[in-house]
Amino acid sequence: MSAAMESARSASAGPELDVVVVGAGFAGLYMLHRLRGLGFSAKVIESADDVGGTWYWNRYPGARCDIESIDYSYSFDPELQREWQWSERYATQPEILRYLGHVADKHDLRRDIAFSTRVEAARWDDDASLWRIRTSRGDEIRARFYVMATGCLSLPKTPDVPGYGRFAGESYYTGRWPHQGVDFSGKRVAVIGTGSSAVQSIPIIARQAAELTVFQRTPNFSRPAFNGPVTDAKKAAFDTDPAAYRAAARLSGAGVPLEPGLVRAFQVSEAERLAKYEEAYASGELLAFGAAFADILSNPEANATVCDFLRGKIRSIVRDPETAEALSPKDHFYGTKRPCIDTSYFETFNLPHVRLVDLRKDPIASITEQGIDTATRSFAFDVIVFATGFDAMTGAIVSVDIAGRNGLALADKWADGPKTYLGLTTTGFPNFFAITGPGSPSVLSNMAVSIEQHVEWVGRCLADMREQRLDVIEPTPTAETAWVQHVNDGAEISLFPRANSWYMGANVPGKPRVFLPYIGGVDRYRKTCDEVIRRDYLGFAFDGPAGARCNDGVVCRLQPDVAMLLDALAELGVPPMESLSVEDARRFVIASAALRPPGPEVGEIVDGELPGAAGGLAYRLYRPASPGPHGIVAYFHGGGWVVGSADSDDPLCRDLCVRSGAIVVSVDYRHAPEARFPAAVDDGFAAVRWIAANAAMLGGVPGKLAVCGWSAGANVAAVVCQLARDAGGPAIAGQVLLTPATDCDFTRASYAENGDGYVLTTALVRWFRDHYADPADRRNPKASPLRAHSLAGLPPALIVTCEFDPLRDEGAAYAAALAAAGVDARHLPCRGQIHTSIPMVDVILSGAPARQEMAAALRRFLAAP
Ligand code: FAD
Ligand code: NAP
Repeated sequence: MSAAMESARSASAGPELDVVVVGAGFAGLYMLHRLRGLGFSAKVIESADDVGGTWYWNRYPGARCDIESIDYSYSFDPELQREWQWSERYATQPEILRYLGHVADKHDLRRDIAFSTRVEAARWDDDASLWRIRTSRGDEIRARFYVMATGCLSLPKTPDVPGYGRFAGESYYTGRWPHQGVDFSGKRVAVIGTGSSAVQSIPIIARQAAELTVFQRTPNFSRPAFNGPVTDAKKAAFDTDPAAYRAAARLSGAGVPLEPGLVRAFQVSEAERLAKYEEAYASGELLAFGAAFADILSNPEANATVCDFLRGKIRSIVRDPETAEALSPKDHFYGTKRPCIDTSYFETFNLPHVRLVDLRKDPIASITEQGIDTATRSFAFDVIVFATGFDAMTGAIVSVDIAGRNGLALADKWADGPKTYLGLTTTGFPNFFAITGPGSPSVLSNMAVSIEQHVEWVGRCLADMREQRLDVIEPTPTAETAWVQHVNDGAEISLFPRANSWYMGANVPGKPRVFLPYIGGVDRYRKTCDEVIRRDYLGFAFDGPAGARCNDGVVCRLQPDVAMLLDALAELGVPPMESLSVEDARRFVIASAALRPPGPEVGEIVDGELPGAAGGLAYRLYRPASPGPHGIVAYFHGGGWVVGSADSDDPLCRDLCVRSGAIVVSVDYRHAPEARFPAAVDDGFAAVRWIAANAAMLGGVPGKLAVCGWSAGANVAAVVCQLARDAGGPAIAGQVLLTPATDCDFTRASYAENGDGYVLTTALVRWFRDHYADPADRRNPKASPLRAHSLAGLPPALIVTCEFDPLRDEGAAYAAALAAAGVDARHLPCRGQIHTSIPMVDVILSGAPARQEMAAALRRFLAAP
């Protein structure tokens, strides 16, 4: 056959294989096994000459896992679990490599793996609906599906050190360690880097070398692993019921069955906190500090207590105070760069032949032929070890020339950061899957668990497609954009983006700063992936002999912390409030208020009483710590005119006080059904008049008065503004209405869309309104301010609405109507929030920007002349 005919034949031919998998590490091995089991033809391409991936390449001295081996192992083969016994809690690299070799033998995997072969390029052929995969052997393989199991930490980064390449002595890279090992005896050795690889190798290199110099740019948090035989407790927990043990791992946050911290760091005394940290330290478990308290990875002050504790431990080990100081991390929060567990790392710096060079003080000027020159010194070495890390998560993927539809290069598509749906797939690249890709929990988890979950999802997807006679799958742009947003939303409420870490791509010059993994946890993530399948592959488009179809949509629309809150509430099985008596509903609100974080400290809190429309009203005044006088905000709590008090909205009032720098006076207006419409608004107006008249006595600036409220309280605030306008005073500088009740029309779309499942249900709104006002009264503008004859002349307004709130559309309508009437009104719609989430200070961190905007609006209103 002529070359032209051969090329034409191959161009028109269908796939030779169902699936090509790249990489023969933990992921590729299981993917191959799974595909075979499902009856697909598959081949693995691996650049190394054997299986193992990470554990093939990283043979540096001291290399071992940092997740206990019982956890960091496959669960798919019960027999394997029974027969393989780990010799240590944290197995060494050779033992893990033996394990993966054993798995390959046991399942006869090697016969379908092409070793010593690199995938150079992969092109999607739209006409033939297949991938053309070109390897370093010059061949091309046609496969229907293309799976990158290329690893998150498999492409070592080229050391970005001046003079790199000049050194005439021996150079080694932890991620590409020679198989025959390295003998450091009698040698002068430099190690550049103090990440996990360095922390593991330094103590062992120090044992052999004549001199060891460690070049440190950023000190890392590390603590003893207390390695040894697998503990009896761990063994018993696993052996008693391996299936239950694995199930618990899958349903955990990080893929290890560990009790998550539910209590916040400052909810306990300092002594209790320190005891918890001592316990975490003694456990030798990597994840123990992150799980010590619920807010370690989100609250800077909580995290700082861990940092202080661990710095204290470093000082207690390292004898030379200057070295101890240099080894103590100060530029990042604990956990925001991958922390380490070690064996005698800090002790090594007490040895006379080991020294530390702090590159922050004395940076590397150049690598030289003889060694390393820093700004102030010249060092001669026999060996330099580069422990400088990896181009993580995206490096191995984009280093292959991957082209999707219309020749789109993946490297170009991801030039500003990776965009994926579920971390598994990406638009424009049909039939492409990345195992533990960016946007999935991957490196924030026990990778063995995350790998198995991805492999099983891909296997299931391919089997479903085969059954439904579909042969092309691609995520939709809507689904992908929303997933990227969701991943970023998660990162934003954590401390992670604040560090210069490889999680952020910050270790590789020129790489975009994007938080690469998904922080939502393996449990939540697994549920999401399962939900996508259950909802008929939501967010995917398919094509094939059975025809084309697209199930466009977004799987995670709630903010991550709001979703967690709803899950927690569902687990508690709280009865719907409208099924309770009014007394029980009030008791319930009081009891839940007692369980929340308190909100920030303010300068002073004073409880008092002011004259309402029909008797005294309790109020609580929050004064800023700054010297006064301050502007005043009259605040009305939420609770459907039936429940609630100054206590229930206390954290929000503190937060508004601190952020706005204003005095907040939270007014306890009368409640229905005892005092029905218009008692609440009459009290509100009376309170505002009294506050305005007594501003100076309260420590405020006379004439500087704004109103604010949440839900029914926002209704009171809005009505008070109308009453004040109509009565000719008092002057109100502005109104901030958080998810206000403004009307009595239940036909708006937000009632249908969000009527159930988001705490404030349509049924509950009805219950509140029935208690508050007769149907005829509800149309009165004093109950439904949207129905006022005119909205002109009202104070400037900020109206905050939440996406998943039955009241959303009436809030938006009020903002629009105010603006139409010429009022300076701004509408702030909050994506992914529910009616009750914004007031939840220190619980719903994603609500902080809205709280900040509310405070900024109050500041602006009160500053206006
Ligand atoms: P890898 O094991 O990285 O395998 C990917 C394979 O793909 C490699 O063999 C590579 O050669 C091959 N490949 C890549 N590109 C190509 C190409 N273009 N053509 C052909 N072949 C290619 N995670 C944990 O959860 N717990 C731990 O304790 C832990 N310890 C670690 C220790 C070290 C030193 C490192 C570096 C990482 C560690 N990790 C740990 C993360 C670890 O990478 C994963 O746990 C897991 O091993 C990844 O498996 P994988 O199959 O996805 O990728
Ligand atoms: P790493 O964490 O990225 O550490 C690289 C180190 O090199 C850092 O200290 C870095 O400093 C330093 N460095 C990089 N470029 C430098 C330069 N130009 N000049 C000076 N210093 C430079 O890489 P790693 O140690 O190989 O670990 C990567 C990840 O693999 C780990 O986080 C972990 O997930 C995994 N791992 C796990 C284990 C385990 O215990 N099981 C062991 C090894 C690796 P900066 O911090 O200032 O960038």
